[in-house]
Amino acid sequence: MDIKRVCVYCASSTIIAPVFVDHAIKLANILADNNIHLVFGGSRTGLMGILADQINERGGTTVGIMPEFMKEVEWHHENLTEMIWVDTMARRKEVMIEDVDAVITLPGGCGTMEEFMETLSLKRLGLFTKPMIILNSDNFYNPLIDLLEAMLRENFLGPKHRQMWEVVDKPEDIISAINNSTTWDSSAQDFALVD
Ligand code: AMP
Repeated sequence: MDIKRVCVYCASSTIIAPVFVDHAIKLANILADNNIHLVFGGSRTGLMGILADQINERGGTTVGIMPEFMKEVEWHHENLTEMIWVDTMARRKEVMIEDVDAVITLPGGCGTMEEFMETLSLKRLGLFTKPMIILNSDNFYNPLIDLLEAMLRENFLGPKHRQMWEVVDKPEDIISAINNSTTWDSSAQDFALVD
């Protein structure tokens, strides 16, 4: 698959363990070196800022999507290839996944989880069809993976839904996980309901 553009969900927090910073920097290098454009939340803070700074330094392309109110509180990154301002948080999530080839979820808080879960729900309904990769840095996402497995086990998700996401332990495995992801299309609607 020719990967041109990926959306990354990740933390706004700046008080994070070095392993998460290290993984964000490694991912940034991989994206920049492969000329894969980053679409992200547009913040200068946390893993978002680290990712964007490193891609910029390496000559890559960074596209931030931000609701206008975040400009007022000055959370925005000042030095991106492109910043797209939107009216609402809801619109931001729509724009973030337009025309991307994959979505990657790095460690983060409730904002990251909300974005991941909304996109996963759209995928279940066949409204989003691209690979979704969870970077399980330092086993941070083990509880999420357990929850998703429990959803499958208890039939809140159907067996085919297991193919909606891939989990990798290190940034170096993200590209191959995208390339090896199960193909998905709008026919997912036919089995969205578990009955
Ligand atoms: P969180 O994981 O709660 O830190 O939220 C980070 C995710 O939610 C990012 O992927 C952003 O798209 C969005 N977000 C939450 N807080 C901010 C912020 N201060 N600046 C920019 N984006 C944010």
